[in-house]
Amino acid sequence: MSELDTLIQLLARLPGLGPRSARRAALYLIKRRESALEPLAAALARAAAEIRPCPVCGNLDTAQPCAICRDPRRDAAAICVVEDLADLWALERTGAYRGRYHVLGGTLSALDGIGPEELSIGRLIARLSAGMELILALNATVEGQTTAHYIADLAAATGARVSRLAQGVPVGGELDYLDDGTLTAALKARRPL
Ligand SMILES: [Zn+2]
Repeated sequence: MSELDTLIQLLARLPGLGPRSARRAALYLIKRRESALEPLAAALARAAAEIRPCPVCGNLDTAQPCAICRDPRRDAAAICVVEDLADLWALERTGAYRGRYHVLGGTLSALDGIGPEELSIGRLIARLSAGMELILALNATVEGQTTAHYIADLAAATGARVSRLAQGVPVGGELDYLDDGTLTAALKARRPL
């Protein structure tokens, strides 16, 4: 197989790219050696060599511990648990959270053989102490909520306060357009005005 075929095959494995868009991307890169191909190759090599999971929180960074764990302006008494790095990035984009994180890397799943050991849950519980806040920002799926309950049970013994993200009507949302599950959750989580 030629180098070009290898490149196309590797690109086709990227999320959101099929064989057709992988061929287009490969052609684009090869035609722009200096402006696209070489900078991308260098960035990939640097990422492969330098980016590692933070030993404290599981965030990816070139520094160990990561920049979020080392930032003294962030509240060390709040830990927000997320499934994946994409969720951490989504929360960071809001600018509304100034605590720290714990990236699980998945959810508990008996079917897939993913237990607490695979998700660094023990390391999370070890970070907690009385007076801290643990925010469970897990997906509103069955697996996400099962994992949240499992962590909340273990965290109770540490004396940390446990909270979770609210579920309900999205900002700007119209009731008529919501699915039944979202509307039911919103009704159950109603608050005094
Ligand atoms: Zn970290």
